[in-house]
Order: sequence, then C-alpha cells, then structure tokens
Amino acid sequence: MKINVIVIGGGPAGIITALTAKSVYPQKSVCVIKEIGDGVIPCAIPYMMHTLSDTSQNAMGNMPLEKAGIDIKVGKVVSFDPKAHTVTLEAGEVLSYEKLVLATGTEVRMPPIPGVGKENVFSIKKSMSAMKALREKVHQAGKIVIIGGGFIGAEFADELSQDAEAEIYLIEIMPKLLLSAFDDEFCDEIARLLETQGINIRTGSRVVSIDGVGSAESVTLDSGEKIPADMVLISVGAKPSGQLAEDAGLRVIENGSVWVDDYMRTDAEDIFAVGDCALKRDFFTRKAAPVWLASTATAEARNAGTNIYGIRVLHQIQGTIAAFSTQIGKKSFASAGMTCRSCEKEGFRFVTATAVAPDRHPGVLPGASELRVKLIFSDRSGIMLGGQVSGGPSAGELINTIALAIQKKVTVRELDMLQIATHPLLTPAPTVHPLINASHQALAKLRSTIQSARDGTQNQS
Ligand SMILES: Cc1cc2nc3c(=O)[nH]c(=O)nc-3n(C[C@H](O)[C@H](O)[C@H](O)COP(=O)(O)OP(=O)(O)OC[C@H]3O[C@@H](n4cnc5c(N)ncnc54)[C@H](O)[C@@H]3O)c2cc1C
Repeated sequence: MKINVIVIGGGPAGIITALTAKSVYPQKSVCVIKEIGDGVIPCAIPYMMHTLSDTSQNAMGNMPLEKAGIDIKVGKVVSFDPKAHTVTLEAGEVLSYEKLVLATGTEVRMPPIPGVGKENVFSIKKSMSAMKALREKVHQAGKIVIIGGGFIGAEFADELSQDAEAEIYLIEIMPKLLLSAFDDEFCDEIARLLETQGINIRTGSRVVSIDGVGSAESVTLDSGEKIPADMVLISVGAKPSGQLAEDAGLRVIENGSVWVDDYMRTDAEDIFAVGDCALKRDFFTRKAAPVWLASTATAEARNAGTNIYGIRVLHQIQGTIAAFSTQIGKKSFASAGMTCRSCEKEGFRFVTATAVAPDRHPGVLPGASELRVKLIFSDRSGIMLGGQVSGGPSAGELINTIALAIQKKVTVRELDMLQIATHPLLTPAPTVHPLINASHQALAKLRSTIQSARDGTQNQS
C-alpha cells in the first residue's frame, strides 16, 4: 500500500506535522503510525496525579487527525528502508511512502543506579495505562522520592504536595533545581516555594542506591543519608529515540538525535525528522542543545509539514531558544533564551537588569501579584539574549513576548520605546511595566559600558 506522507509517532510533533502537511497539500494522503494507542497529552502528565479528577481527562484524542482525513495506524515501526521508500510494522505489514517523517520523540533511559529495576520504581511514560498505574501508586504511597529536579521533577513534587499526608523528597545532583532554565534567584525561589509546600529538597546530592528486598524501601544518597520510600519516581534520563534512524543508516549524533538541516531534512532523501528525536541547535551558539519541549517540537513540525514537497518557508527554524514556563504553587516561572549562567559559560558579554511591579494597578486590586522580569542583552549591540519572569498567570504570556523579541533580534533600544497595552485589571501600570523598566535600566547600563569603553580608548590614545 502506498501512502504519500507517512509520519512515525503520534506525539505533538507527529500530529502537527501530519495536520500541516494535510492542510498545505490536501490532495496528498497522510498516515500517522503510532506505537501507543492510549496516548496522553505529555505536558499535563504531572496534573494527572491529583489536579485532574480522572486520568482519562488527559487523553490524547485522535479527533483532529480524523477530522482532517488523516489515517491513523496503531503499531510499532520496526524498520524503514530509505532506498525502497518503505516502512515495516511489527505485525509484518509493509507500507510505501513518498515522504517519511520521523517523530519518534524520546525514550526513557533509566539511570545506572543500583536497584533501579526494583518494583515501585517508576518512570514517566506517555501512555494512559502507565500513568493510571502511577496515579494509583501515588495515592497509596506515604513516602515518595523523586529523582531529578528539572522542571518535570519539580512539577511532580508540586503536584504530589497536594496530598498533605505524603512525605516527599526531591533529589537533584546539580547545586540547584531547574538550573538549566533559570539563574540562581529564580531557582532559589522555586526551591523556597516547594519547601513551604512541605517538599524535602536535597540538591547537590547523588542517589547511590535504591534499596529494599524486591521492591524499593529506601534511597541512599552520597552523603550517606538514607531516605525511606514507598515508591521512587525517576524524572531524569530521557534520550532521543534515534535508533530506528540509525538502523536505517541515517546520520544520528552522539546523544541519539537524528541529524537534520534547517528544514528538518535528514541526510536521507525524502526523510524528515521533527520534535524530540531531531537534533536541536542552540539559537545563539548553534551548538547541539539537549532541549526537548513540545513548543519547539510543534514549530519544527509546522516547518517540516509546510516544506515537505519543496522548500516554501525560508530560515524559520534558527535554533531553539528553549522558551519554557511552569507553575509552582500559585506562582508562575518562565524563561527564554540565555541565562546569565549560560552567557558566562559561552563567553557572551552581557548586561542585565531586573524590574518588579504589581501586575495590576493599583497593586491593591484583588488578584494582584508581583511580576518580576529579568532581561539579558548583548553588551554592545543591545540585542536581547534572554529573559526570565516570575509572577501570576500573566508571566506565561509575557515570556512569549520576550521569546518573540529574542527570535526577531529586538534590541534594548527598541524595547525601551515599545508601545504596550495596559489596563488596571489586566496589567502593570504603564509607568512601571517591568518589561519596559528592565529594558530602560539595561539601556542605562549599556550606555555606561560603551562610555567607559570609549573613555578607556581615549585614555589610551
Ligand atoms: C511530564 C512531562 C511534562 C512536560 N511538560 C512540558 C511543557 O509544559 N511544555 C513543553 O513545551 N514541553 C513539555 N514536555 C516535553 C514534551 O512533552 C515533549 O517535548 C513532546 O512530547 C515532544 O513531542 P514529540 O512528538 O517529539 O515526541 P513524543 O511526545 O515523545 O512522541 C513520540 C511518539 O512516537 C512514538 N514512537 C516512537 N517510536 C515509534 C515507533 N518505532 N513506531 C511507532 N511509534 C513510535 C512514541 O510511542 C510516542 O508516542 C513535557 C514532558 C513530560 C514528560
């Protein structure tokens, strides 16, 4: 059977590639092959534990694909042949394609901790049955240890703290939680908030073993501390699923990502890769970046779907800016682009400024909360390198303004003059808007940096 476009993988990247290809090329037949029949919306997995009253509320439905006239096949692709243009399913079926898209995502790679294979040690899987089992265990367990303090571990800790009786430990090997997304002050605030919710945090701590007879009973840290556990949740170790591509002879980089160019084309003719399985490059350095986000995945999917029968859209995927948001307790945190830490590591010279204001005006209005904006600019060009935001729900959209500014290479001077909409019930006051105020402060710093450089030059001459 010949299909024009075959997409392997039914996650966000696969779905959006298929929908885009079908809308841009309606005459083409499109088929999504997915291994998991009972998929879930991955970003909401943590909230399946308590916030959603039933796990079924987070089902990844087929409706958008069916409505668009896209075929869906549930089954595992075990191989594909780039020369013959065929894919083979586990059940033996062979399908032919004109264009193939790999959207195989990430797979869980359990860390090499002794005892990790014990009963009651769980990983996070993107299937309904697995997450239903996890929820059942979470509801029974009194003592839960989460290994990994990135955003997924922190979101799980936050969610599990809804059970006031549960004793929860969050273990992170790095010195701070969410270290790759935020600078210290934001990481520290996230840790403080989790601690006020009763989470026991151990940063700079390595788990050396998961102990118990048959099932996990405790976790031992490199400090020697032994933490009792009824269950252990592993939230580290995702790895791009590039094996299928590697087996077919495609170029796959060291971490398992499938190599792609700026149009999501692999090194094999008529084969694209999108989402978590595809190579990500950092927006500023173009180095390979281990950033796996649904927002990036779907942008790549729109790119591949549009360009699949010829390049129509030029230079839209210029690398990932890792735009990301989360909520801990009632507070939102978000970041995009570089942090001060990554600027220092990569040798980028920068100026930074932080501004804080209530997100309503006057700030005594009901529902007001403090909005904090930190912006980072290149110290000569003034081009925006990154931003971090914390505050109420508006932080989630404010970071998207910052993300747009980064991608459009907006300068501090342009932001200082930005026209914005404000309203007492909706936004900070125009006089103190932290996006503008942080830019204004950064501009003053940038001027003085440039002035002192000039003075230095004059003094030398
Ligand atoms: C708990 C959690 C919370 C998250 N929260 C956020 C968030 O708030 N914001 C955000 O941007 N990102 C978030 N992410 C990341 C986001 O989920 C991923 O970036 C996104 O799912 C990537 O989409 P994808 O389609 O590339 O891969 P996946 O979603 O991994 O989908 C790949 C699919 O391909 C299937 N597949 C693989 N191999 C085969 C095969 N051989 N044959 C058939 N099918 C196959 C897999 O079964 C899977 O269903 C979160 C992730 C997790 C785990």
